[in-house]
Amino acid sequence: MSIVSNQLETPPESGHPEGRLFIFSAPSGAGKSTLCMAARRHFPDMLYSISHTTRPPRDGETDGKDYHFITVEAFIQKIESNGWAEWAQVHGNYYGTSAEFIDAGIHAGKDILLDIDVQGTFKILKRYPDSVTVFIMPPSLDVLRQRLESRGTDRQDVIEIRMKNACHEMAEAHRYRHTIVNDNLETAVSELISLIERYHQNPHPSSSRRVS
Ligand code: ADP
Ligand code: 5GP
Repeated sequence: MSIVSNQLETPPESGHPEGRLFIFSAPSGAGKSTLCMAARRHFPDMLYSISHTTRPPRDGETDGKDYHFITVEAFIQKIESNGWAEWAQVHGNYYGTSAEFIDAGIHAGKDILLDIDVQGTFKILKRYPDSVTVFIMPPSLDVLRQRLESRGTDRQDVIEIRMKNACHEMAEAHRYRHTIVNDNLETAVSELISLIERYHQNPHPSSSRRVS
C-alpha cells in the first residue's frame, strides 16, 4: 500500500465526495499506454492502478512500475482470498486489479486511472457503478496492425491473437460512456485531458463519442 499512502496527502480534486475511477480500454496497440502516460503526466495527483499479471515482462518493462509481475500460483491464491477488484484472462494470461489499492484510494478521495480490458471494465462497473469508462479506438484495423508491428514488442503469433481479439473488443465500444479515436496523438491527448477536466468541473457531464 506504499503507493497509496505516498500519494494521499493532496486533497481530492474532483469535487466528488469519494475518489472516482477512470477506466480506459482499447484493443492492444491502439495507444492506450501512450495516452494513459500523457494523462498521468497532466494529472499528477491521480493515482494509477498498477495491474498484476502473469505475462512475462517485455523489454523495458519494470516490475512494480508497469505491472506487478507475479506467478500463476500467486494470482490464483489472490482469487481465492478475494483480493481482486476484478480479474480476467486476456490473450492467454491473467491480469488483475488489487481491491485493496482501489478501495484505499477512493476512500481517500483520490481519482484513479485504470488501464484494463473490456471484461474487467464490466466487472468493475458492477462494484463501482459511478466509474467513468473510456474506449480508445484505433483509426482502423490496418493502422492497429502497423502499430503492433512497429512497436516491436510482440512475436508475430502474439500479434495475430491480439488482432483477432481486437474485433471482439471494438464491438463492445458502444457500452463505454466515452470513445476517443487515437488517430492524431496530439488531438487524442487533448481530448482525453479535456474529458477528465470536465469531470473535475462537473461530476456528471454528458457522454461524448467521436468515431471516425
Ligand atoms: P497499447 O497500450 O494500447 O497496447 P501503445 O500505447 O503501446 O498501445 O501504442 C502502440 C504503438 O503505437 C506504440 O509504438 C506507440 O508509440 C504508437 N502510437 C500510439 N499512439 C499513436 C498515434 N496516435 N499515432 C501513431 N503511433 C501511435
Ligand atoms: P498488455 O499485455 O498489452 O500490457 O495488456 C493486454 C490487455 O490486458 C490490455 O487490454 C490491458 O488493458 C489489459 N489489462 C491490463 N491490466 C489489466 C487488469 O488488471 N485487468 C484486466 N481485466 N485487464 C487488464
